[in-house]
Amino acid sequence: MPPLDHVDWGVLDYFGWIHRSGHLGYVVMPIKNKLRGIKLRRMLNTSPRPRTHMCSWCNHVYRSRGTAMFSAEVGGSDGRRSIGNYICRNLDCSIRLRNLAGDPPTYLPETIDLQRKIARLENAVITFMARAQRLPDLF
Ligand SMILES: [Zn+2]
Repeated sequence: MPPLDHVDWGVLDYFGWIHRSGHLGYVVMPIKNKLRGIKLRRMLNTSPRPRTHMCSWCNHVYRSRGTAMFSAEVGGSDGRRSIGNYICRNLDCSIRLRNLAGDPPTYLPETIDLQRKIARLENAVITFMARAQRLPDLF
């Protein structure tokens, strides 16, 4: 796990990184002043035909293979249940919301302002973690 001391939470809504194996991702987010984390399994989109895909956390729309399927085991299920979402493949939703990525902007721009996009993203991460039973003390 990379050190989190230098994370600038002013521009990052969550801190995400991909393990060098490429198959695992980690997401950490401050929720009610506590850092919460979740481990995800990543399956890249290897479809030969490019299609538009939307990140279900930040709603960024890619013209081709920008998303990956990330899944998490539901806590307490002994690995029998998991949930998944199509999310930005490098777990960099915050950068895309703020148009700081060097590659093309979203294919379908929205008119809502940044603050509402950030709130929607945070809500999506919290909902995902709650569904995976990672926030039992909050929900
Ligand atoms: Zn995203």
